[in-house]
Amino acid sequence: MDIDNMVQNSALVRAREGGGSKGRSWKWREMLRFPHISECRELAKTIERDYYDLCVNQPIGKKMFQLYCVNRPELHDHIMLMDALETFETKTDKERKSFGLSIIQRFIQSQSSQCVPSVAKYEQSCIKSLELDPCDDVFHNCKEVLHEYLSQEPFTQYQFSMHFDRFLQWKKLERRPVTKHTFREYRLLGKGGFGEVWACQVRATGMMYACKKLEKTHVKKWQGEHMALNEKELLEEVDSRFVVNLAYAYETKHSLCMVLTMMSGGDLRFHIHNMGKPGLDMDRVYFYAAEVCCGLIHLHQKSIVYRDLKPENILLDDNGHIRISDLGLAVKLDEGCLVQGRVGTLYYMAPEVISKENYDTSPDWWGLGCLIYEMIEGQSPFRGRGERPKSSEMEKIIKSKKLEYSDRFSKEAIDICNALLMRDPKRRLGCQGSGGKEVKSHPFFRKINFRMLEAGRVEAPFKPDPRLVYCDDVQDIDEFSALKGITLNQTDGEFYAKFSTGSVPRSWQNELIDTGCFEELNLFGPMGSRPPDLDW
Ligand code: ADP
Ligand code: MG
Ligand code: MG
Repeated sequence: MDIDNMVQNSALVRAREGGGSKGRSWKWREMLRFPHISECRELAKTIERDYYDLCVNQPIGKKMFQLYCVNRPELHDHIMLMDALETFETKTDKERKSFGLSIIQRFIQSQSSQCVPSVAKYEQSCIKSLELDPCDDVFHNCKEVLHEYLSQEPFTQYQFSMHFDRFLQWKKLERRPVTKHTFREYRLLGKGGFGEVWACQVRATGMMYACKKLEKTHVKKWQGEHMALNEKELLEEVDSRFVVNLAYAYETKHSLCMVLTMMSGGDLRFHIHNMGKPGLDMDRVYFYAAEVCCGLIHLHQKSIVYRDLKPENILLDDNGHIRISDLGLAVKLDEGCLVQGRVGTLYYMAPEVISKENYDTSPDWWGLGCLIYEMIEGQSPFRGRGERPKSSEMEKIIKSKKLEYSDRFSKEAIDICNALLMRDPKRRLGCQGSGGKEVKSHPFFRKINFRMLEAGRVEAPFKPDPRLVYCDDVQDIDEFSALKGITLNQTDGEFYAKFSTGSVPRSWQNELIDTGCFEELNLFGPMGSRPPDLDW
């Protein structure tokens, strides 16, 4: 290994280990100093006063509203109950029954001193539902009623509180301009069609990310503007632990940058093919297939077809969980419409895509079939090891080759591959009425507890070595440089401005919370105590 590569790797490994407070700049408090509340008045006028957006969906917004409620005696139990209901969702199947009962006894039974009156009417139905199946959405009604209550008078009063003022201060920080100086840069991680991907770290918080840069001249030369904006906007919209998240979008003189969840564990192609005998152990196959399945379901719920499922695009994080990445070919379906378009990587293309038929989400389920096959067998279902058939030949193989299964495949594995690799999309698993649900309930996944998986409570079967850097050596990744003879003009500038929207609120707020900066800074009054006069 080359010295330069070693030096760069160890710098990256050190930064990763020091993620969190150690990675913060010594000036971090100054960087995150709250603006005076008088500077937030303009912002206050433009913020849409929507309860769900401000108090449920935005992570810091939710925290500030909770703090407000906890400090009001008449709202205290409401918010405690809400919190307990969220904790309930993270309990194992075994724990749910007793935990659910304790919630009922404490907050729902009318005899209890902490009873929340508006939900008392659900006591019997909750007990019954808990008896019947603790894994059901037992407290659905309670949650709705609680939100309904909180969104009225309490939400109105909250907007006059110091907690809401503080929320505005956070929002003002969130909206500060993002430039290359916001980040420290580490080594090159990979290369894409329009540019390079670099490891980076936010100076103020120490959070690690991957920065995907699109060279402006390359984008212009290949007319990639629409594609770049499409990828950025779709990434901004998704919110799943199984899809890479966008944290910032900004521009520099030469590039457009998307700052994404850092995935340090390498891609699945690497793990299937470069770690000894090709293929993966079955416990990893079940696990990755299930997480990809959840990611696809999330995208499909947002009417997004991914269209580029293949091992290279599935990345592992530090803990061994995967996320779908590279939404460059994804497309948003208009209400009830189909799309057409021959895109993707030929080896993984579904027959209806090859034949330029109309389709909706069916190619993604075909893609999952290819992926499961390849994880088990160590080679793609339609291409032998080392083979590089011509594209016309490849098309024929995909449309007609009979699938062969070695003895690595169990009965269920054969069955799910056959069902997902059904050539007629109408007969394919995942494409009938209930979509992804029918995939989840296939016997292949019987060992997977999807509820716990979605709550992030399942331990990954393989954890990447934190001291390893799972990507090519820096000198083996071709460099990207600006193309000569391409000049950027006003119209380009308008597109860049549309792309460079700065921090993505949900991601930015999670970053502040996850790195501990929120806790350390969110103090009130002198010496961090609460000011004596809470009610105004
Ligand atoms: P393109 O759309 O141009 O193909 P990709 O999104 O696939 O670009 O990124 C190119 C390469 O950069 C990937 O193959 C991978 O090696 C690396 N990469 C991309 N996203 C991340 C990430 N979030 N974390 C770590 N590495 C990444
Ligand atoms: Mg790619
Ligand atoms: Mg792409």
